[in-house]
Amino acid sequence: MTDSSPHILMRSAQMHVVRPAEPVTATVVSNELCTAAGRKSAGFTRHIALDLTGTALAGACIPGQSLGVIPPGLDAQGRPHKLRLYSLASPTRGEDGHGHVHSVTVKRMIDEHLVHPGLFLGVASNYLCDRAPGDKVLVTGPSGKKFVLPQDVAAHDYVFFATGTGVAPFRGMLIDLLEAGCTSKVVLVLGAAYATDLLYHKWLEELAAKHPNFAYITAVSREGAQRAYVQDRLRTHEGVLGPLLASPRGLVYICGIAGMELGIFQHMARGLPEQVREQYLRVDAEVAGDVDNWQRAMIHRQIRPTRRVLMEVYA
Ligand SMILES: Cc1cc2nc3c(=O)[nH]c(=O)nc-3n(C[C@H](O)[C@H](O)[C@H](O)COP(=O)(O)OP(=O)(O)OC[C@H]3O[C@@H](n4cnc5c(N)ncnc54)[C@H](O)[C@@H]3O)c2cc1C
Repeated sequence: MTDSSPHILMRSAQMHVVRPAEPVTATVVSNELCTAAGRKSAGFTRHIALDLTGTALAGACIPGQSLGVIPPGLDAQGRPHKLRLYSLASPTRGEDGHGHVHSVTVKRMIDEHLVHPGLFLGVASNYLCDRAPGDKVLVTGPSGKKFVLPQDVAAHDYVFFATGTGVAPFRGMLIDLLEAGCTSKVVLVLGAAYATDLLYHKWLEELAAKHPNFAYITAVSREGAQRAYVQDRLRTHEGVLGPLLASPRGLVYICGIAGMELGIFQHMARGLPEQVREQYLRVDAEVAGDVDNWQRAMIHRQIRPTRRVLMEVYA
């Protein structure tokens, strides 16, 4: 079954202006924690602004795209480290108003290995989080052209689902939409394990207070009386999300931890009226009645998001 949903013209994005073989040097402008004080999890996430002035990346990036970062040194096999991707958190105008300073939202990867017991610190994320203003970083990109806003932003309303650092592209998109005076309805559903890990929380609350067309909804999964995952908000906030999804203007963006999309699709299948659900998901008859047993591997095979669903998920 092919996707017969209407084609949506997306913003055009420049790709691979700077390739990994010839990375350019960015200068760290600032590096700040973007989790709240008194964290309960061991997660540390930082908002890092990079000055790209004088490189081909200046003015070439839009929200939804990623920058590549090449950490210095060699991997366990003695080869130069591979680049890692980080979503841009900045709007098209950048942090500086000219598209020369762009930011990323980086979570320190911290792990404990069972085979060789000891603390493992992810190479690129910790390298980036340790950088101080003035430090140099090798960058490439931008990459990604599908997970971007549509060309005609006013023709759509938006539901953004984010977990963890998945909020990064939405920070940039929200600024692009709201600063330009776009009156479309925008809802961000942001999930985190603990309330202190809701990234950019205060800023998002302030943004929602300032813009009546923007609603900010949180879902905290491991504390509080009303523990919830982002997908639960389809049910608990049906009054806000239902009409938006039912409108032909609705677009759904999903960004964050790989696997989150399955939960959202299952909740869409269980909770949305059939004629609304099929605007976002086409489901093969043989799995349609067994939503509880849907697996991630079925996505794009038996469970196919339409063009009105845009996804960027990563491990
Ligand atoms: C499109 C895209 C966008 C992304 N955006 C963001 C973003 O906005 N923010 C963000 O924080 N991340 C983002 N990521 C993830 C990011 O690219 C990195 O994967 C992440 O930061 C971890 O990289 P690292 O170098 O710190 O960890 P790595 O060193 O690559 O380690 C990653 C994993 O491999 C395991 N591992 C590595 N070496 C060994 C070993 N020798 N033995 C056993 N296990 C090992 C580690 O335990 C760990 O689980 C994005 C990814 C993609 C694909």
